[in-house]
Amino acid sequence: MAFPTKSKFVIIGAGIHGLSTAWHLAMALKANGLGSGRDVLVIDKTAIGAGASGIACGIIRNNYYQPAMQELIAHSVSVWEEDGEGYGYHPVGYMQISPEVMHEDVVQIYHRQRDIGYESVFIEGEADCMKYMRENVFEDWQARNITSILHEKRGGYGHNGRSLYRLADKAEAEGVRILTGVQVTGFDMKGGAVSAVQTDQGAIECDWVVAGVGPWVRTIWDYLDLPKRIEVKDNGRVHKGVNMWTYWMLQEGTLGVDPSYGLNNQGKMPPVIHLDSDAPLYSSEDGSLITDRMWGLYYKPDTNFKGIQGGAMPYTVDRENVAVDPYGIDSPDFIVGPEFAHMWTSGLAHCQKRYEDKYRMYKDEPSGGLGCFTPDSFPIFDVFRQNCYLIADSNHGYKMIGVGKLVAQELLGHKQGILEPFRFERFKSGELHPVSSSPFPWS
Ligand SMILES: Cc1cc2nc3c(=O)[nH]c(=O)nc-3n(C[C@H](O)[C@H](O)[C@H](O)COP(=O)(O)OP(=O)(O)OC[C@H]3O[C@@H](n4cnc5c(N)ncnc54)[C@H](O)[C@@H]3O)c2cc1C
Repeated sequence: MAFPTKSKFVIIGAGIHGLSTAWHLAMALKANGLGSGRDVLVIDKTAIGAGASGIACGIIRNNYYQPAMQELIAHSVSVWEEDGEGYGYHPVGYMQISPEVMHEDVVQIYHRQRDIGYESVFIEGEADCMKYMRENVFEDWQARNITSILHEKRGGYGHNGRSLYRLADKAEAEGVRILTGVQVTGFDMKGGAVSAVQTDQGAIECDWVVAGVGPWVRTIWDYLDLPKRIEVKDNGRVHKGVNMWTYWMLQEGTLGVDPSYGLNNQGKMPPVIHLDSDAPLYSSEDGSLITDRMWGLYYKPDTNFKGIQGGAMPYTVDRENVAVDPYGIDSPDFIVGPEFAHMWTSGLAHCQKRYEDKYRMYKDEPSGGLGCFTPDSFPIFDVFRQNCYLIADSNHGYKMIGVGKLVAQELLGHKQGILEPFRFERFKSGELHPVSSSPFPWS
């Protein structure tokens, strides 16, 4: 097929957002008698799943301190449930296990889940938390200083490759064209709007551009000639010259035991475990103190990753010129090292006795990767330069499969109230999302 020179909608990026938008847009065009998937073109410089969506461990949870995030995730979980098997969605649930310092935050999360009808159970008090874990989940549970557990009954995790290819198949079945190996190199502007997308293989004229480019968002931002530094109003104070984008390194890895080693008391797949702790963390190798500050980890048995897969707190990448390419496991700089393996396997042993002598089973293979964050670490879903819809999820996003469905509606002129708290304007107006006491930048 010839290289296209025109398409009504050009979507940059074949990750979770680009593909979800493509399929939902094709469906919405058809439903409204406005066109079909043949009006939609997806281009990706590498391949389907070549970005963060392809390396994400796939956790899907509603545990957010920010009401707007909770609503958005509840919507996304419904989208996962629409085609759970097709997307490789495992609705095993999710547990947020916390120390006293986070108790009040989690109470609020629980109450809001009740208000929006998102099913969960809340356990309070050290003795009751231990009892709940040992009787209902893992009889070898041993984590100390835990005074609350939020057990979400929905959510769990998804198989990233399967969900992306399922979305791509559905989009293509509606007539969407997905072109890989085509890199966007800039935009042609006319009257302040994008008139064509420039690529390494030629220009493509368009009415709308949608960019869902994950960690590459800064490049697209620069192509749109948007500011590198912005003003942020926070609690009435104005901060000038705040970096628009910062990078974090997401640390993840796998313990190379059979996934069945991590089953629950009933011999079934357990909920995804996320523990934050203020108890000192000691090495499971030599007993030395790893940290006496707040720390956190998450894990799940996963047949896709062939073991117990999970991660720990990310760290900021404090340098000016961050090389996003080569990305993921091909990156020479941004993969996890032995420090992560030591901390994470010790964290597993802190949680469950069965992992006490298993640190040697850690799979020594490249994993983890970069994420690109906004000034308040929450997504921006907004239109820039009149016709460029930016889906900049601030690394929250594999779970947000439903964002594409909402964006498709906005592209057709139907504003979605659920997306309003994620507009760029919030940095100037000071309507930022509330901040929790979790050690993770996205909770
Ligand atoms: C290690 C790790 C673990 C994670 N775990 C989770 C998790 O458990 N749960 C969760 O919800 N989220 C998780 N995330 C976050 C989540 O993966 C991302 O927020 C989400 O996948 C971003 O999706 P996207 O579609 O915006 O971008 P991506 O999936 O990054 O896709 C962007 C695509 O754009 C293409 N592209 C970039 N620039 C250009 C260009 N100039 N021209 C053409 N194509 C271009 C790239 O090739 C890429 O394929 C994790 C992230 C990381 C890094």
